[in-house]
Amino acid sequence: MAKTIAAIATGNSAGGIGVIRISGDNAVEIANKVFEPMNKNSSLLNLEGYRAKFGNIIYNNEKIDNAVALVFRAPKSYTGEDVVELSVHGGIFIVEKTLEAVLNAGAIPADAGEFTKRAFLNGKMDLTQAESVADLISAEGEAAAKASFNALQGSLSNKISNVLTSLTDCSALMAAWVDYPDEEIPELKEENLRETLVNAKDVLTDLIENYENGQTMIQGVDTAIVGRPNAGKSTLMNLLVGREKSIVTKIAGTTRDIVEESVRLGNIVLHLSDTAGIRESDDVVESIGIQRAFDKMDSASLVVAVFDSSKELNDDDIKLIEKCKGKKAVAVINKTDLDEVANTDLIKNAFKEVVYISAKHTDDTKPLEDAIKNVLGVSGFDASAPILANRRQKNCCKNALDNINEAIGALDLGLTYDAINVMADSAIDELLSLVGKKATVEVVNNIFSKFCVGK
Ligand code: GDP
Repeated sequence: MAKTIAAIATGNSAGGIGVIRISGDNAVEIANKVFEPMNKNSSLLNLEGYRAKFGNIIYNNEKIDNAVALVFRAPKSYTGEDVVELSVHGGIFIVEKTLEAVLNAGAIPADAGEFTKRAFLNGKMDLTQAESVADLISAEGEAAAKASFNALQGSLSNKISNVLTSLTDCSALMAAWVDYPDEEIPELKEENLRETLVNAKDVLTDLIENYENGQTMIQGVDTAIVGRPNAGKSTLMNLLVGREKSIVTKIAGTTRDIVEESVRLGNIVLHLSDTAGIRESDDVVESIGIQRAFDKMDSASLVVAVFDSSKELNDDDIKLIEKCKGKKAVAVINKTDLDEVANTDLIKNAFKEVVYISAKHTDDTKPLEDAIKNVLGVSGFDASAPILANRRQKNCCKNALDNINEAIGALDLGLTYDAINVMADSAIDELLSLVGKKATVEVVNNIFSKFCVGK
């Protein structure tokens, strides 16, 4: 019997509505103890699933708020168990008080991710879908939200399941052929086995190759904005952020430390660092900032190098151009509203993507967005295609692919089906782990511990 759990499902701040979610065998009985319908002749106890009642929350025999109780009956609920959601007014106090009433009535507090874990354990979703719930909640940009929602709908699960089905069919035939050589077992033609293995290889290779791009779109890109003092880094950052975050002044060297901010640029998210102006400096504090700027450049996945087109390029600019070589970097030639003095050929020759902009006078960030996507190689990213959402999923695919490649090699060498089947089975195990059908308790617990309580 599943213990009945409860938690606040909505955010930890005041809002129009707050939801307390209860799940388990006694969910309806417990909700019935704290919720009194307006129509005193009715009760939650005999309410069918997908029905709601309006009433009051009762705490210590006192009405504390109006509420709507929404009842779901097992197995047709998020967790697959009986579920009641109590929607109350979204003040922090009222929401917490309602949860307290529910706990006093016999529910126990839910662990992080326990609702989704139950959904997974009750077969409502596989592990990739459960992981996508956490990704969807933490999505900051359109591509991340879309990719996570597609995964939740089963796009990755379906792709993997198709591979699994054909591999398992072949494996069963190979096992039968090995175990019962004298029986009339349908023959597995070598060409069919090869086709299945090559198809699995193609699907897995595709997923692995798209992993980094998927991560870029889901997690966002660590971006360092660099350039000599007064090039316009802070102005550019403010343009991207859309409000005054970095301090902009005419005195060189004002941005002394790294300012960090995440911004949405089209459907991509950039985690920006506006670094101290790069130049030789006697000022101790500023020097630390400049060193940090170089460190940041080394660790960032993307560098946006800003140059002042109204001034001759100086040694610091040249140093910066050199340092950007071999990195994913976009050059921004700023202050195009002023006369061009800088020799921009040097910049154009060094960077794959160059954007001309007047950061102070424009609000069009599309050219920068396009340049950044080109440099990152995500211009054609399709958020609706199945993608691997995390390292765990990627490792399972990688291990499965290694086994498939070995199986294809064994087939080329003319090895017998019993040898090939060992590799095919290992690949199947990895894919079963990926979707959670063979995942260890530790892996499952680890995944759900990263969720928030109430999800
Ligand atoms: P940072 O030191 O690189 O962060 O440079 P700031 O963003 O603080 O800008 C330095 C100065 O250049 C400020 O006075 C800005 O207003 C000015 N500035 C920035 N962008 C432009 C631009 O596109 N055109 C002009 N004319 N001035 C700009």
